[in-house]
Amino acid sequence: MEATNPESVVQESTSECSSNGNGKTAARSPSEHALFVDPNEPKLDHVDLPRIEAAVRSILSAVGEDPERDGLLETPARVARMYAEMFAGMRSDPGRHLAKVFEEDYDEIVLVRDISFCSMCEHHLLPFTGHAHIAYLPSGKVVGLSKLARVVEEVARRPQVQERLTQTLADLVENRLSARGVAVVCEATHSCMTIRGVRKPGSLCVTSAMRGIFRDDPKSRSEVLGLINHKV
Ligand SMILES: [Zn+2]
Repeated sequence: MEATNPESVVQESTSECSSNGNGKTAARSPSEHALFVDPNEPKLDHVDLPRIEAAVRSILSAVGEDPERDGLLETPARVARMYAEMFAGMRSDPGRHLAKVFEEDYDEIVLVRDISFCSMCEHHLLPFTGHAHIAYLPSGKVVGLSKLARVVEEVARRPQVQERLTQTLADLVENRLSARGVAVVCEATHSCMTIRGVRKPGSLCVTSAMRGIFRDDPKSRSEVLGLINHKV
């Protein structure tokens, strides 16, 4: 079915790119805990903090720094906690956020636009940050809109490339909601392109993944892309 209803649901997200924690950083000595688990995400897999700390000390030494100088003493532990946070989505199942669905007759496009995310480029271990837009055409099942933002937040917290992030989001929505169509567009700035290498600040990488009717029917695809691009 074509999605042509102007009443299509469009929600703009205002969430900031932020930690999904409470902003607190628990003070831990380097050897206090071999494993770190974010208290806000009890199902997270463990991260070997001391191993990261040792690696960070190695990097500091390798670039000619003194890891024992005052300003750097706590850096390895801090960086280890940062990685634990940035990679918190590695072994969890983001699809669990889409488990609770509501039976609804609504069969037009649902779009949540401008969901901010921070992810980590797996080639350089530098962040790429931007926005995801997720649209789907329900088949009798809809999901709470904030759940789509939760899925983005969790999938983003892995080392990856933007192409895979985009496809993962589309597959999750298609499979968990049995949606008749899914369109995901991600736009992001990659630190590895802006602060190093070719150094092109302002460049934006745009990726899209279409599933179902949005892939097969050009008219439906152009309608959903119009909604995503604010043209409708
Ligand atoms: Zn990169």
